[in-house]
Amino acid sequence: MGEFIVQLRHEPPYHIVFPAMHLTRGQISDLFQQKLGTQPTADPEELTMTARKALRQEYLSADIGITGANFAVAETGMISITENEGNARLTCALPKTHVVLLGIEKVVPRLADLSLLLPMLATAGTGQQITCYNSLIGGPRSADELDGPEEMHVVLLDNSRTRLLADAEQRDSLRCIRCGACLNVCPIFRNVGGHAYGTTYQGPIGSVITPHLRGLQSWQHLSQASSLCGACTETCPVKIDLHHHLLQNRRNAVAEKGSLFQRLGFKAFALVVNRPGWFGIATRAMKFFAPLQRIFNATPADPVWPWTKSRELPSFARRSFRDLWKERTP
Ligand code: SF4
Repeated sequence: MGEFIVQLRHEPPYHIVFPAMHLTRGQISDLFQQKLGTQPTADPEELTMTARKALRQEYLSADIGITGANFAVAETGMISITENEGNARLTCALPKTHVVLLGIEKVVPRLADLSLLLPMLATAGTGQQITCYNSLIGGPRSADELDGPEEMHVVLLDNSRTRLLADAEQRDSLRCIRCGACLNVCPIFRNVGGHAYGTTYQGPIGSVITPHLRGLQSWQHLSQASSLCGACTETCPVKIDLHHHLLQNRRNAVAEKGSLFQRLGFKAFALVVNRPGWFGIATRAMKFFAPLQRIFNATPADPVWPWTKSRELPSFARRSFRDLWKERTP
């Protein structure tokens, strides 16, 4: 449902598990009015029925259904899909051909492993004990079966995952089950939102693995977008050391090719923050930059628009913490 909504808006998912979590029911109602010609409604059930009606028709007329998979079982050759709406199951079952795309890290050794992983994914992802639909698919329909596709193709994607596997320091990030729990607790994700990352995987896990999958130099800025509070590591059900991996990405990026701008920037920052007097002047001077906020949040013609189009520049505080502290401390 969430994927359907964001596809109608021609935008990428906002969150790994809740792709349309940034939209209100009113916005979804407006979207359905524009795209599907429905009447306005604030009733989630009615909105769901509208999407259901539109999607059912697609499943019935499609020649090919393409799904991902949550896991693949080496022991039995099956793929496992876990969901709450049944749409993935319809995508597998109704079209004549089913194509599955999954990363190689989704392969688990034994069927019995799912007895741990499926409830873990449901609990960490949505707080359920188990999701509503859990499908295990072992191939196309056989001659004596009525339902299912005539053909099934499984595409295993590497896309730099073997390189990540070779990295002894960070290979544990391939354990990720995409539950989204680290996004939910991340103060940065909660402030900037999923679209600000510009990646398929957002939040702490996206910031860790995207530089491996798409290039460290182009995506190293993601590891700077962290307070390193460690909430992500704390919550991760498969114990990925996320915040340390962000630090390692910062280190690796600078060791590989720290830019002059970065080096000078950090030197200037160190110069100021190590001198309390200078730091005080700098924080007081921030209030003079407040009018810049309006300029920076202006239009697509603005030079910083690529940064501000999906998040607002935070407000500069009128008074610094040091001033407030001085006032409150007798
Ligand atoms: S890194 Fe951990 S918490 Fe984040 S999505 Fe993956 S499994 Fe879930």
